[in-house]
Amino acid sequence: MATLTNRAKVLEQKPLTFMERLYLPSIFKGMAITFKHIFKKKATISYPEQTRPFSPVFRGLHVLNRDEQGRENCTACGLCAVACPAEAITMEAAERQKNEEHLYREEKYAAKYEINMLRCIFCGLCEEACPKDAIYLSETFAPSNFTRKGFIYSKDELLIPNPVTEKEKYETAKGLREAQLKK
Ligand code: SF4
Ligand code: SF4
Repeated sequence: MATLTNRAKVLEQKPLTFMERLYLPSIFKGMAITFKHIFKKKATISYPEQTRPFSPVFRGLHVLNRDEQGRENCTACGLCAVACPAEAITMEAAERQKNEEHLYREEKYAAKYEINMLRCIFCGLCEEACPKDAIYLSETFAPSNFTRKGFIYSKDELLIPNPVTEKEKYETAKGLREAQLKK
C-alpha cells in the first residue's frame, strides 16, 4: 500500500495479562480516587441557590441613577457615549418642561438611552466619564437572552426604581456595591 510518509506505525495488539483480564484492580484503583475526593472540600457550589461574593471591583449591569427625590440624574450630555470604547451607548436628549422638575434633575434629560450589551466590555469608562453620578455598573449580571434585540437595554430597563415610591426595590437594585466601596 502506497503511503505519503514513512511515519506510519503498525501497532501491536498485545494480549491482556491475567490481572488485566480480572478488571478488579483497575476498578479498585478508580474507586480509590473517587473516595479520596469525597472527603475533600468541594470546588463547586450549588448555583443559583448559593452564590460567591463579588469582588469589590466587579462591574455588572448598568444602572441609570436617580437622586434622593426620585429625579433622573442623567442630563444627556453624551460624555459616557464618547468615552465608551465599544460604542455601545446611544441616546437622544430632550428639554425638560416646566411641569417636569419632579422627574428630571437637570434642564436636559435623556428621552432615549440605550446600551448594547453585546458590544459592552464592562470596562466602566462610562461610569468614570459621567459628571452627574447618573450611571454606574451594579453587581448584577446581564441576564441571558434568546435574541440580539433582547441585549439592547432601553432606558426603562436601566433606570433604577424610584427611591421615594419604590424604596425596597431601589435598595435591592442599588446592591452592596456602594457599601463595599466605602469600606
Ligand atoms: S462599560 Fe465600557 S463598554 Fe460598556 S457601555 Fe460603559 S464604557 Fe461602554
Ligand atoms: S449618563 Fe452621565 S455622562 Fe452619560 S449622558 Fe447621562 S449625564 Fe452624561
